[in-house]
Amino acid sequence: MEAWRRALDEPVSAFPISRAGPAHVATLKTYDPPLTTLEGRRLAGARRRAKRLLFPTDDGELVLLVHLMTAGRLRYLRFGEKGPKTPAFQLVFEGGARLVLTEAGAKKRAGVWLLTPEAAEAELAHLGPEALGLGAERLAEICATESRRLHSLLRDQRLIAGIGRAWANEILHTARLSPYALSQDLDAAEVERLAAAIDSELERGLALRERGANDRKTYRVHDRLGQPCHVCGAPIARVDFEEHTIYYCPQCQTGGRILKDRRLSCLLR
Ligand SMILES: [Zn+2]
Repeated sequence: MEAWRRALDEPVSAFPISRAGPAHVATLKTYDPPLTTLEGRRLAGARRRAKRLLFPTDDGELVLLVHLMTAGRLRYLRFGEKGPKTPAFQLVFEGGARLVLTEAGAKKRAGVWLLTPEAAEAELAHLGPEALGLGAERLAEICATESRRLHSLLRDQRLIAGIGRAWANEILHTARLSPYALSQDLDAAEVERLAAAIDSELERGLALRERGANDRKTYRVHDRLGQPCHVCGAPIARVDFEEHTIYYCPQCQTGGRILKDRRLSCLLR
């Protein structure tokens, strides 16, 4: 998401918006203020909060909030550049460039909100601090507040904002920690390692995404069942935990132990 934000920051603020819309009925989540109130205004650039992209207007009156979920894509198209026939959402800028949101598949999960700055603030208030640059001290506090499995803790946006399931796999592997380890059991050295891994892995991902790398080139552990671990060569293992599939290296992370499935349905039985 940070790579997208950087790529969009300059172009979206180059010209005022000449036309806002159309928007798919399932994509646009707000109707007041209407989308047309954006027309004639200029965006101040692109910001990011966790997985949400924010586009405030330069008069400080409105914020366009975009959540792409998993299948949404946001592209800036120069004048004349070919785009999708029916974008889920689009902004047309003076001069003809466009910002278009597309979403693969029939299910429309990505969302666009047009909000006042106060409403945007309220919308984002439940998010925890940003993962990148969190630091060991802050992470230690978060780990101490409740006893949680590390994979689940890293993904909880109310505790730490900006880590999804794939990066939770990558981070825990780099930190050499079990996805099932309980947060309150970590010693100071392990918290240090986890904080360092959050930064190094997110930075690595950012650099690769900026160069246009795809998932295969980006992830070294996630979705690599049976392939050799890039550190020790042992085959990567997989375990189902709650509603997620976790990938990990049994040599590097669990002292050779194979983790057992803990599906939500089993826990409820
Ligand atoms: Zn390994």
